Amino acid sequence: LLSKRLQAVYQMVDKDTRVADIGSDHAYLPVELIENDVCHFAIAGEVAKGPMSRSKEDVEKFGLSNNIDVRLGDGLAVIKADDQIDTVVIAGMGGILIQNILTRATEEQLSHVKTLVLQPNIGEPLVRHWLVENGFEIVDEDIVNEEHHVYEIIKAGRVDKTKPLTEAQFLMGPVLMTKKSPTFVAKWQHKLNGYHKALENMKHAKEIDQAKIDLMNQYIKYIKEIL
Ligand code: SAM
Repeated sequence: LLSKRLQAVYQMVDKDTRVADIGSDHAYLPVELIENDVCHFAIAGEVAKGPMSRSKEDVEKFGLSNNIDVRLGDGLAVIKADDQIDTVVIAGMGGILIQNILTRATEEQLSHVKTLVLQPNIGEPLVRHWLVENGFEIVDEDIVNEEHHVYEIIKAGRVDKTKPLTEAQFLMGPVLMTKKSPTFVAKWQHKLNGYHKALENMKHAKEIDQAKIDLMNQYIKYIKEIL
């Protein structure tokens, strides 16, 4: 039932948890988590009415309404302290939106949350910045290739004192850098070629954008050090 990307997100969810899947759309993830007994209770949160009503019908059809609550709401507003949600999943959105949703979360909504599983489609460094600046440590990461797009999955746990990350770690992922999977190497090899080409093109440009050139050279240095 799950795509390769959502399967990788699913793998990051710990057993015996209470999960809120924010921006759940079709609610595939909560259904799979409950059906396979990974978690006992899940909220499928969705801001759009259409997907929310469809998911509600599906959840009832599968006889899962006791374990999955489909709720309409913006971001973490669907979570109440009584729900005792310990794991929040936000998948399939841009990094800016994920960061924005997390920034707007209240103390009450995050009160029982120990784990965040985040899958930004783009803008991964923004998500890593939010985590280390808000009391979370990245404990696992995965990277998968699906239909010519590379997706990164970031799992974080709450800590008393966060460890700072280097610029290279924000960019490429502290765990992914050590795992160095073939998908990771292919992603950054591809980016490296892109930066080299862009630098070559810039040489012929009328106006020199030195700041951009410096940034690309910096990225090239990080990537070469890791690959
Ligand atoms: N999480 C699913 C997945 O990974 O396959 C669905 C991803 S879908 C591309 C993004 C969903 O997030 C959409 O259904 C959209 O309506 C919802 N969404 C966007 N902003 C949201 C917000 N602030 N709160 C809740 N849901 C939101």
